[in-house]
Amino acid sequence: MEPRDDLTEDQKKAYAANEADFDGLEKQLRSFDETANARLTATARRFDPDAQYCYRCPCDQYEGIEHRCARDTCGHSRISHHGFI
Ligand SMILES: [Zn+2]
Ligand SMILES: [Zn+2]
Repeated sequence: MEPRDDLTEDQKKAYAANEADFDGLEKQLRSFDETANARLTATARRFDPDAQYCYRCPCDQYEGIEHRCARDTCGHSRISHHGFI
């Protein structure tokens, strides 16, 4: 990211605070994904890491372009298939 000189001190502080919050949140979400994956792996539900399987049900492919999987048996969110990060 290019350093910017045209920001006020308040604006710089706001960005720095946001950066810290988002960084912390992304770390939490990544660990959440890892936990979800580890649970499935521990019960021999192993998947291709590139596949779009659902963490919440046995659906193995996200269907559709809406916010929810179009499969009748699933219907979970896109995040449920891809993870947060
Ligand atoms: Zn699905
Ligand atoms: Zn599902």
